[in-house]
Amino acid sequence: MPNGKVIAPGAVIGILGDGQLGKMIAMAAARLGYKVAVLGPIGRESPAGQVAYWAEAWGPNAQVEDEQFERFCSLVAVVLIEWENVPVGLLERIEARGIPVRPSSKVLAVAQDRLLEKKLARELDIGETMLLSIEKGYDLLNGRGDRTQDWPFETILKTRRAGYDGKGQARIPAGGSVGDAWTKLGNVPCILEQVVDFIGEVSVIVARREDGETAIYGPFQNTHRDGILRLTQYPISGGPMYDLRDSIREQGYAAARKLTEYLRVDGLLAVEFFVTKEGYVLFNEMAPRPHNSGHLTIECCDTSQFEQYVRAACNLPLGSTHCHSPGEMLNILGSEANDWLRRVGEDRLAVHLYGKGEAKPGRKMGHTTITAFAPNDE
Ligand code: AMP
Repeated sequence: MPNGKVIAPGAVIGILGDGQLGKMIAMAAARLGYKVAVLGPIGRESPAGQVAYWAEAWGPNAQVEDEQFERFCSLVAVVLIEWENVPVGLLERIEARGIPVRPSSKVLAVAQDRLLEKKLARELDIGETMLLSIEKGYDLLNGRGDRTQDWPFETILKTRRAGYDGKGQARIPAGGSVGDAWTKLGNVPCILEQVVDFIGEVSVIVARREDGETAIYGPFQNTHRDGILRLTQYPISGGPMYDLRDSIREQGYAAARKLTEYLRVDGLLAVEFFVTKEGYVLFNEMAPRPHNSGHLTIECCDTSQFEQYVRAACNLPLGSTHCHSPGEMLNILGSEANDWLRRVGEDRLAVHLYGKGEAKPGRKMGHTTITAFAPNDE
């Protein structure tokens, strides 16, 4: 049994952010007998708000006025994160009230900043892709002063903060100007990375309890299009990574475990990697919340990433991560959501629609998971 305080079913779990990740956390929490209170940009009509016990919208820039803060804090026994850009100050305010935030404000502060997370990976001897950091025209990391240095290979400039789904990034061809790309991104602090000629992208998700017990999933095999996750396959079942799958798992698990241990994550940490032709696993980024690549754990694993997050945050025994059915998850983007009726009718296909309003191009409206045929199926 776990050491430390157990938050028992019946309690209210707070969630910061009100999108689809919050919705799926709330549904897993409800199955275990918890109620959920959601604070996010949309509130009651949001994907998570639609299934929550309590939901309110915060103000512009995630501002939470004192009265609303009191209402939220008076309800919740623990707070989870479903959106990575929640202001760290809000987490600190909640922690100062004696309410645990899982993972903590310290973990979020690192995950929100690409420079801090790459530096941490470097410190922990985890391979990564960063060449330099740019702020006010200086290379902070290597002490070089020349931000316009032309690199003889393709590079990618990324804003340190607030980038997601390929936003806040600029690719620079070999010999191209880093300075021009920096201006294009608004001269905000950035990191420059080499473009990895990878054979694949994978992710690993670790749940960790306060007392150090962990449960781990992955590697999930991820295919992106235009910087947005399109397809996840689990386990790796073909393609150029297949023969390397054991080594990829070992390297990915070792790196993800080092990060969760060092940061003392209590809750969930998702870590994304590139896999090189030579079979090296390079750290790309991490997120202290459920991850899009883990959605298929709902249908494919004994315990979903969402339930595991609730278990870890409430200090319950962690569940088995065993994958009982190989599967594939496909995101439903933008107007593809209009095809819902055909999708709902297909065999072995689970349809998830998030209940979002407008189907803007590239917006994640839902996903489908196909599970493999069981051995005794026709
Ligand atoms: P990110 O927001 O950093 O996860 O980037 C989104 C996607 O862009 C990644 O999943 C990759 O497909 C691609 N990408 C980002 N950084 C690199 C890189 N250094 N080399 C190659 N592809 C990259």
